[in-house]
Amino acid sequence: TAVAKASASTPGQTLLGIDVSKKDNFALWYTRVITYSEMIDYYDISGCYILRPWAYSIWESIQRWLDAEIKELGVENSYFPLFVPKSVLEREKDHIEGFAPEVAWVTKSGDSDLAEPIAIRPTSETIMYPLFKKWIRSHRDLPLCLNQWSNVVRWEFKDPTPFLRSREFLWQEGHTAHATFEESQKMVMDILDLYKKVYEELLAVPVIQGRKTEMERFPGGDITTTVEAYIHGSGRSVQGATSHNLGQNFGKMFEIQYEDKAGGHAVPWQTSWGLTTRSIGVMIMAHGDDKGLVLPPRVAPKQVVVIPIVKASLSAENKAALQSYAERITTDLKAAKIRVHLDHRDNYTPGWKYNHWEQKGVPLRLEVGPMDLDKGTARMVRRDSGLKVDLAGEAVVHTVLHVLEEIQANLFAKCKAERDKKLVKVWEWKDFVPALEEKCVILTPFVNETEWEEEVKRRSREEALAGESEDARTATSAAAKTLCIPFDQPDLSPGTKCFVSGKEATCWVLWGRSY
Ligand code: AMP
Repeated sequence: TAVAKASASTPGQTLLGIDVSKKDNFALWYTRVITYSEMIDYYDISGCYILRPWAYSIWESIQRWLDAEIKELGVENSYFPLFVPKSVLEREKDHIEGFAPEVAWVTKSGDSDLAEPIAIRPTSETIMYPLFKKWIRSHRDLPLCLNQWSNVVRWEFKDPTPFLRSREFLWQEGHTAHATFEESQKMVMDILDLYKKVYEELLAVPVIQGRKTEMERFPGGDITTTVEAYIHGSGRSVQGATSHNLGQNFGKMFEIQYEDKAGGHAVPWQTSWGLTTRSIGVMIMAHGDDKGLVLPPRVAPKQVVVIPIVKASLSAENKAALQSYAERITTDLKAAKIRVHLDHRDNYTPGWKYNHWEQKGVPLRLEVGPMDLDKGTARMVRRDSGLKVDLAGEAVVHTVLHVLEEIQANLFAKCKAERDKKLVKVWEWKDFVPALEEKCVILTPFVNETEWEEEVKRRSREEALAGESEDARTATSAAAKTLCIPFDQPDLSPGTKCFVSGKEATCWVLWGRSY
């Protein structure tokens, strides 16, 4: 293979190629890609990972964009403590019930037991809202819209997966309080639209927006809205991010009360919403290929790598000329605000460098050799398609800008086409598990009752395991669960039967196996 050749041509410098295909062993492929691309390293505590600069830089891109957008909505950043007293965490009963098994506790300082155990935040509703009570006294104090960029800890028992499900993760969590339900719901939906844009416009991954069923709703909230992504390689769906309408539940529990315009007492309507480092994992899974990462240009830490092809036979004078030619191209690209890196290391061959930067997913490579110097050209190679084009020097900046846009659009289109091929409608139970086995996400007419949702989970798991499918034997979960009730509902003609209960259906629901 190219990788083997590259390594062989450089004695003493080996570059490990990804030795497993995405199609044959998705899970192993993923661990190879995230480590070989220098995104993740492992740590002694299970479920905790190191985000190396290549990954952290992508988080910073997401942060930069999203931070500016939420500020446009009137949200301000702040920071609240990591710890929450036991009694406060347990104030909202449904909420704590939802999180209890995953809460990590601090019980000691040095050798002494603490008087009251302190929880590490799994999310900050219970940390922030006692302060909301203090700060919201009058209708003039509303809306109160805060966000924080922070870490949270959820001691997950499901298999940890770097980015997708870790025990400590980074996120932003927004918390707002409003005078009316309508205002709070507008915030919920504005945020959900931003989450869709993060996935679709930055990460080039299509998502489906919808509302969670009762069973999947955020504990303590009234309405949970979500963006759901689909991973073509594994056939699993992922909850991309969620935006909750908390109603007045927390307001009542935490006794947040204010004087309204008429002089009466009122409880505000609240929202909370979060997007995590999971989004990076979704992007990797969606676009990566058998050579490694494929990064959408908008978030790629480096969008272009320039590689001078310096042969040993070149005279010192020509080497210097080639070097300064490569530097000039790099400077021109930088001036156009393109994130470019000139790899002029002389202890690696060009072939080794090609593979290295391909593994790291850099969208474009520019090769400049002695011939290019003579002709004033450069060879451009696309990471997404492998396409090679020789460019005239004066066209480089303009073409690169244009092609970066094209790659961004192409990645999205490809991912959407793959998803749409697997998005099917099923009307009857008998077709449901076979569609799951085909790695589909499935729309069904549904009665939307919790007991029937549980029944689908149970039966889909049983039937899949009985069928001895590959997925059932190896996967963490063979059961289907509801992803959402999509906002974009297909027509549901009166009398349409629910696919599992046979009762009259009330809506279309999206199901899938999920991470
Ligand atoms: P929640 O506060 O439960 O609504 O979670 C907000 C979002 O965090 C979810 O929609 C997931 O996308 C993401 N998420 C949940 N658990 C994890 C985890 N263990 N690791 C990374 N991201 C997570």
